[in-house]
Amino acid sequence: MPYPAASTVGGVRHAPRMALHLHGTLLPDGTTRDLWLVGDRVTFRPPAETAETVADGGFLLPGLVDLHTHPGLRADGGFDVDALAAHRDAGVAVLRCPGLDGPVPPELRASPELPRLVTAGAWLAWSGLSAHADFHTVVDDLVGAAVREAGAGDGWCKVMADWDFEAAPVPLELLRATTEAVHAAGGRIAAHCQSAQGSLNAARAGVDSIEHGMAMPAEAIPLMAAHGTAYVPTLTTFGKSAPWRAQRGLDRDVLWQEGHRTMITRAREAHEAGVTVLAGTDSLPHGDVVREVEWLIEAGLPADAAIGAASWRARQWLGLPGLEEGGLADVTVYDADPRHDAAALRRPNRIILRGRVVR
Ligand SMILES: [Zn+2]
Repeated sequence: MPYPAASTVGGVRHAPRMALHLHGTLLPDGTTRDLWLVGDRVTFRPPAETAETVADGGFLLPGLVDLHTHPGLRADGGFDVDALAAHRDAGVAVLRCPGLDGPVPPELRASPELPRLVTAGAWLAWSGLSAHADFHTVVDDLVGAAVREAGAGDGWCKVMADWDFEAAPVPLELLRATTEAVHAAGGRIAAHCQSAQGSLNAARAGVDSIEHGMAMPAEAIPLMAAHGTAYVPTLTTFGKSAPWRAQRGLDRDVLWQEGHRTMITRAREAHEAGVTVLAGTDSLPHGDVVREVEWLIEAGLPADAAIGAASWRARQWLGLPGLEEGGLADVTVYDADPRHDAAALRRPNRIILRGRVVR
């Protein structure tokens, strides 16, 4: 998708030509009413200016959110705008990116045509991990690096609590010191966990979100509830690997499958224990957060909790107001109630991002 040059973006940012009017049933509360979008804000009071009616009937959601996606750099070094556009065209208005290959160009971040971004800087891999992938930023001083990343971006950093699920994770004391330092600096910390001990360490350290939580032991759940740690299992991406792992059947694959089944169980248990469970896709294709909603339902979450995990609850967790007075003007409209059939989320008949009609 071509995107506007920075000079153009500056001129039109958050300033659509006309107020928009919508009528429909708001989720999650289920009330049927009118709302207006004036600039990038929601209001329930009719504006003085003329408003164009862009939806009359149906179900209105605040724009979808993908809490774990990596729309990174292309091979030529440019930022992958197509990935952002794919999310937008599926009705995804907000992306949290826990790990990016490079900084987002300011004109993309400010573009009224692209989803809002909450970035967490680079993947931070402590050099003491016995194995780490080449694309991670390897650091000796995990505490200092995490504080710097959280301070440099949108308040988040992303730390690898482990990497290889058969190898030792970041020691608890180091992860705890990192978490405390980030919190003391006013930041939030997302922890990649794909081993039992790494997941448990992250829960004990009180990170803000556990990403994946593969093989997470049950004792992590009450710790997460006590610390207010959210769970972003990214079942979509693990679900894609499950068939070939099953077919290959190495010892390592059997362990992996056990860890995967445990994630699905923990997602339900976490929800039941009052932990905030959120939707993230992690991998390709971009724009299919609905698949994660379906996975969460399959895991045993009630439909409204699974939809909220990719919508109102996710926005609240990020501090981005939705369909409320003064909320941000991201709306998706559906003919059918997605609480009865989550697949309806794949068929938005209207997508509005930052107060502008995408379609
Ligand atoms: Zn990821």
